[in-house]
Amino acid sequence: MAREGLDALLISTFENRLYISGFSGSAGFLFITDSELILATDSRYTEQASIESKGFTIKRVSSKLDWLIDLIKITGVKRVGFEADDITVNMHHTLVSETNKLNSGQSKKIEMVGTSNIVGDLRQIKTSDEIQILKQVCSITDQAMDTVTPSIVAGMTEQEVSWMLEQAMRNLGGEKMSFDVIVAAGANAALPHHRPDSSIIKSGDSVVIDMGCVYQNYCSDLTRTIVIDQPDDRFLQIYKTVLDAQIHAEAEARPGMSGADIDYLARSIISDAGFGDQFGHSLGHGVGLEVHEQPWISANSKNIIEPGMVFTIEPGIYIPGWGGVRIEDVVVMKETGVELLNKAKKMKI
Ligand code: ZN
Ligand code: ZN
Repeated sequence: MAREGLDALLISTFENRLYISGFSGSAGFLFITDSELILATDSRYTEQASIESKGFTIKRVSSKLDWLIDLIKITGVKRVGFEADDITVNMHHTLVSETNKLNSGQSKKIEMVGTSNIVGDLRQIKTSDEIQILKQVCSITDQAMDTVTPSIVAGMTEQEVSWMLEQAMRNLGGEKMSFDVIVAAGANAALPHHRPDSSIIKSGDSVVIDMGCVYQNYCSDLTRTIVIDQPDDRFLQIYKTVLDAQIHAEAEARPGMSGADIDYLARSIISDAGFGDQFGHSLGHGVGLEVHEQPWISANSKNIIEPGMVFTIEPGIYIPGWGGVRIEDVVVMKETGVELLNKAKKMKI
């Protein structure tokens, strides 16, 4: 806040609110100044907030923003930050018009300042407690993958398999999915985010499975590619290229590299094998309270990777009409390189 010259910060994003206050309700705002920690929420959540958010003054409010305008008036703050990536155009309109009313005739004006990533930047580096939870949620996901994949056989539909995986994660303690399970068989696997449908899985198909769940508010994200019965030579060549790219990036990533440097570690191997144009997405993304968050591991990313950051390494090759291969692990950066949080089996080539 000092860096941005803010007297107050309004936090509205679910994950940022949770990270700063511990409050896990679905509605509410934090209003933070250098001397006040206020959590404003409605009657459904005030009791929960007082248990979860020690040190915060809990304010019971309605959906109208009068309480906020009153707080701005009472505390005398002038530069008030809000999360520009989160609030709606309507809410912004209300804030500006209400503060304009307070400003009329005043020499020192109240200013509403759009901010980005103030809390998101803090969330990039995980504490050891957060890493412990992330290890647990990754382990749930690994066990579900390793339990279900051996029972996938020709004749099943993608939807059946996605439901088996979802149940396995829930049975192992996953509280909900972190995103809809992706099961993409045969030519469908050429679409990185194919939605499982009634397509029947056939002998010889490669099947891309990308899934994750939520445990104690933290997300997992894991991809494995398997083959039903016997793989052909083309599959083996593509799978080996993707796996080599992933192993290389996991072995060579170091703190101090940018997201772009780490992306290049894998991308150069895929390009050298002649598949550069078939690896369209970025290598990875941060994982934490959100399944996609900073740091970004992409060709344009300027995020500098530091110890404690948790992110995915997920190279892929996609060939329209044929299919695709993606392999994804979540890793944590340590002082000397990355530690893998996922241990689910990978096909041996
Ligand atoms: Zn994924
Ligand atoms: Zn991912």
